[in-house]
Amino acid sequence: MSEQRPKRQARRTLPARKRIALVAHDGKKNEMLDWANRWRDELSRHQLVGTGTTARRISKELGLEVEGLMSGPLGGDQQIGARIAEGNLDILIFLWDPFAPMPHDPDVKALLRLAALWNVPVASNAASADFMFNSALMSQAVEVAVPDANDWVSTRA
Ligand code: PGA
Repeated sequence: MSEQRPKRQARRTLPARKRIALVAHDGKKNEMLDWANRWRDELSRHQLVGTGTTARRISKELGLEVEGLMSGPLGGDQQIGARIAEGNLDILIFLWDPFAPMPHDPDVKALLRLAALWNVPVASNAASADFMFNSALMSQAVEVAVPDANDWVSTRA
């Protein structure tokens, strides 16, 4: 199999007010609610988006404004992946359930792959999310390295 990959890196700036995606599988929704409640004030300073049920519960139970996408099994993970590919997402909090196989496992894997590819900070459990939210970088613009998409096009031409 070819090992083709972009040779050059580009830079992207994550803004001080970050676009944060919140996704929790059913077995992790209460953990997400507890976590989001602890970080309510910090979350309210950013722009939030989430998969259908996660977004609805956070907005209803915590009063935070969260843009709701499709539910995960109906394509919500893919919608978040598209935002990553388009450079429109800065942080992913994805509490996936290690005990539950999902009908949309391929979508879960695709989302994690795009987050790894585009150097998006990801927390997959509450402790990681705590470390992330305790970081001074949360309130600053931060430059990160990303693949150079133009370079990729040219290597395949
Ligand atoms: P949900 O989707 O927030 O609509 O439950 C999450 C998921 O199962 O990926």
